[in-house]
Amino acid sequence: MTSYLIQYIDPKDNEGEEDPLFSEYTYGDKGNRGNTLKTQVLKGDFLFFNRSIEDKVCITAFYEVVEVLEIQKAKMNNSIMRNYRNPHLLRNNVQENEVIVFGNPDKSMILDTPLEVNMALLKELSVEFKPSPNQTEKAAISSKLKNYGRFIPLDDSQVNILLEKVNPLHTASFLKLQKDLGKSIVLDKTEKDSVVKARIGQSIFKRTLLAVEKKCGLCGVSDERLLVASHIKPWSHSTHKERLDVDNGLLLCPNHDALFDKGHISFDKDGLILISSSLDKYSKLFLNINETMNIRMEENQQQYMKWHRENKFK
Ligand SMILES: [Zn+2]
Repeated sequence: MTSYLIQYIDPKDNEGEEDPLFSEYTYGDKGNRGNTLKTQVLKGDFLFFNRSIEDKVCITAFYEVVEVLEIQKAKMNNSIMRNYRNPHLLRNNVQENEVIVFGNPDKSMILDTPLEVNMALLKELSVEFKPSPNQTEKAAISSKLKNYGRFIPLDDSQVNILLEKVNPLHTASFLKLQKDLGKSIVLDKTEKDSVVKARIGQSIFKRTLLAVEKKCGLCGVSDERLLVASHIKPWSHSTHKERLDVDNGLLLCPNHDALFDKGHISFDKDGLILISSSLDKYSKLFLNINETMNIRMEENQQQYMKWHRENKFK
């Protein structure tokens, strides 16, 4: 098993070919590099991708690998051909050692803030690095990466150092999260500090809720793209722990989310809907709410719902 730091070519300089294809977490390569991927990289390894941004070398994404497939094999798989658009799959001619890597969409990430690969980072990673005095840092780092044939192998401790920098919740949390599905997420102090990255927190929150619930708690909307992971006690009033606590979440369609968020509806101890008296019968009809509706209430949700009833419900 080996993970790699991979220098990739910007599509602008590569005849428009986006490779890796971040929209689907695939990466194709061939020749020596294809052979490296084919023979060294296994499920669970990480590929970190870097490229030049302005005058810096930056890591912009990472994949946790699900599978490395020879391109011929991938092309014979109908499901792959239906679902993926990587240019390596679509070309007619196959090149030597041409392979495609599939990243796990749940565990791979495109970075909001690219991580600069500079001397300090290489030192932290214990990558031996001796730039000649007449080189700029960027030129030295670029040529260093080129010396490796664009692939720098990473051992487990180097992978951990990088993950700690690029993934605020790190993989341990993801793994724990998957194991604990349906239970509260308890974060330690260092994690709490990093959860300020709201967007990542929000996506994990929704993903966790989706694993527990599959549709709006009040109606039949089940399209994941539309469902909203609503906080019972709002994000702005919650502690870091409460923000990621699934018990503080309700999966709702946009309509019911808006009503709940604005306090027009809430729920009693048994999960029965409470409807604001300010809503007339026509509004209730057209907004698809009625007095018989209820949600499943877990014991651990009570404290949050109490907060909602007392502070939000009108
Ligand atoms: Zn709904």
